[in-house]
Amino acid sequence: MQKIIAINAGSSSLKFKLFEMPKEKVIAKGLFDRIGLDEGKIKIEYNEKQSFEKKEHIENHSSAVKKLLDLLLKLDIIKNYAEITGVGHRVVAGGEFFKKSVVINTKAMRQINELAEYAPIHNPANLMGIKAFKKILPDAIAVAVFDTSFHQTMPKENFLYSVPYEWYHNYGVRRYGAHGTSHRYVASVAAEMMKKPIEKLKIITCHLGAGASICAVKKGRSFDTSMGFTPLTGITMGTRSGDTDVSMISFMMQKLKMHSMPEIIYDLNKKSGLLGISGLSSDMRDIEEKKKTNMRAQLAEDIFVKDVVKYIGAYTAEMGGLDAIVFTAGIGENSSQIRELVMKRLSYMGITIDEEKNSQRGKAEFISSLDSKVAVLMIPTDEELMIARDVQTLANQNEDTRAKKYVR
Ligand code: ADP
Repeated sequence: MQKIIAINAGSSSLKFKLFEMPKEKVIAKGLFDRIGLDEGKIKIEYNEKQSFEKKEHIENHSSAVKKLLDLLLKLDIIKNYAEITGVGHRVVAGGEFFKKSVVINTKAMRQINELAEYAPIHNPANLMGIKAFKKILPDAIAVAVFDTSFHQTMPKENFLYSVPYEWYHNYGVRRYGAHGTSHRYVASVAAEMMKKPIEKLKIITCHLGAGASICAVKKGRSFDTSMGFTPLTGITMGTRSGDTDVSMISFMMQKLKMHSMPEIIYDLNKKSGLLGISGLSSDMRDIEEKKKTNMRAQLAEDIFVKDVVKYIGAYTAEMGGLDAIVFTAGIGENSSQIRELVMKRLSYMGITIDEEKNSQRGKAEFISSLDSKVAVLMIPTDEELMIARDVQTLANQNEDTRAKKYVR
């Protein structure tokens, strides 16, 4: 029995989920927050119902990892460090170097560092997590799972911008996309639920959370996706603008008397989307609650729904048909209203709703009725499970290679 830990390290936080594999059972999960800041916070949930919480200073990522492993011992979740045989790290930018998840060696670490140019906040933080675990668990296999790698299968016509070709060739400017692990996971679950080989399906996956993106998955591979060079583009999000006209940037910088690009990029990332339109909140729950009495909340919802509908239409045309739509993440999993609004606007495609199933929550379900021309599913995403599976696959491959060498 192996234990594999999935890690999502941010600049001041470290989230984890510990799995017993191959059973895929979650035995503990938690968060180390405010690393390197005042009032560090630790929270661990384990044995399904138990939880541990403590406030204490967490100096850096290495001390967070040491504290995490010692707590797993103290809470009797593991008997010794060696029980953890694999560590999977979420890495935000994999650029064109990484087309799938990889075992982390010195070269991979150097490339992840080089890619910090594309994700200046996230990649260095991910790397801190990788180094901290390598130091404390040197014998466990370390694997990097990239948000971007699933989208590396997009054809050139879908990932290139119509800008001077040299921008791509010399500087790597192109669509990289994001949420790849989530799109990959829910598309594979959808195919299983439909009892059809994924290679025969055209699926559109809608990851609708605080950050949101849509992906056209053709024959099991990402064919197009709404996020771009960065996660700023695509559909409107909690606080991100989604698609805009870049020419407004210099115009608005003049109007707002801004002196640097980061100021306006900040507004497009943090003050736009549902928050910017409604002026109230970035949270869809607030928007839904206030929309009856607040015209701008209603408008925020209208724009969000229109964007989802627009991308589904575009991707159906690009793929030349559609077998299934999947809703996932915070809004996609929890808001039956948003799902219903989107599905009603797609009735021209022959989509019909099973209202009862659409009102349920929690477990993966078909929410379209049996006569619907396109299947519509709600599937809770599980990026950590996908990470743990990738670690296990690569660990097994490593074992196989070692065994083959030995036989020779
Ligand atoms: P992320 O991982 O991008 O931070 P999540 O996938 O956790 O985001 O989604 C968070 C968002 O989900 C919230 O900001 C909120 O808009 C939305 N959300 C969560 N629960 C509900 C609900 N019951 N109804 C509508 N929206 C919800």
